[in-house]
Amino acid sequence: MDLRITEIFLSIQGESSHAGRPCSFVRLTGCPMRCVWCDSVYTFTGGERMTFDEIFAKLEEFGCPLVEVTGGEPLAQKNVFPFITELADRGYEVLIETGGYVSTENVDPRAKIILDVKCPASGEAERNHWPNLERLRPEMDEVKFVIADLPDWEFAKDMIARFELEKRCREILISPVHGTQELAAIAEAVARSGLKVRLNLQLHKYIWGADVHGV
Ligand code: SF4
Repeated sequence: MDLRITEIFLSIQGESSHAGRPCSFVRLTGCPMRCVWCDSVYTFTGGERMTFDEIFAKLEEFGCPLVEVTGGEPLAQKNVFPFITELADRGYEVLIETGGYVSTENVDPRAKIILDVKCPASGEAERNHWPNLERLRPEMDEVKFVIADLPDWEFAKDMIARFELEKRCREILISPVHGTQELAAIAEAVARSGLKVRLNLQLHKYIWGADVHGV
C-alpha cells in the first residue's frame, strides 16, 4: 500500500500540548478545504507516491518515538487508516492533525487526535464535521481553534460552551493566525476568559520562519 506524500522530516513539535518535543512529521498531499489563511497551500498538489515500507524506512532513520501524521488533510487518503494502525503496531506514539472535515471514526484508537474546528474567518466554518467533537476523548485528544480576529474568538467560546469541550478533551488550543495584528488582543481575551484553554503559538515559525517548511 502507498500514500501520496509531500514531505517527511524530523523537527520539533511546534503546537499543541506536545509543543517542544522532538517529532517526525509525515505530511500527506491534498486537502478538500481552502482556508483563507492556510499555511500549507504547497500540499494541495504534487507530492510523491511512497509505499508504507519506504515511509517506515525514513522514520526509522530519524529514530524518533513521536510521529505526527499531518497534511494537507491526512484523513482524505483512505490508505492513511491502515498506515496509522501500522505506526501504532510498531510502537510509535502517533498524533493526527486533522482539519475537521473528514470523519475521525476510522482512526486507530491508539492515535491521539488534534482536531481543528474552523472559525468564520477561515471561510470554511460551514464544513466542520460536528460528530467529530462527540468522539473526542478527554484523556488524549485536543481541539484547535485557529483565530484570525476577535469575532473568531467569540465563535470559539460559543463552540466550547455548546459542545462542553472543557470536559470532552485534554486541551483546547487557541491558535492565533501567525502575523495577525490582533495577537495581543486575543491573548488578553484568552487570559480574562476564565476558560480551561491554552494559547497555542506555532513554535516552529519562531525558530525557522513562517515560510520555511520541511524542518
Ligand atoms: S484544512 Fe488545513 S491544509 Fe486544508 S486548507 Fe485548511 S489549513 Fe490548509
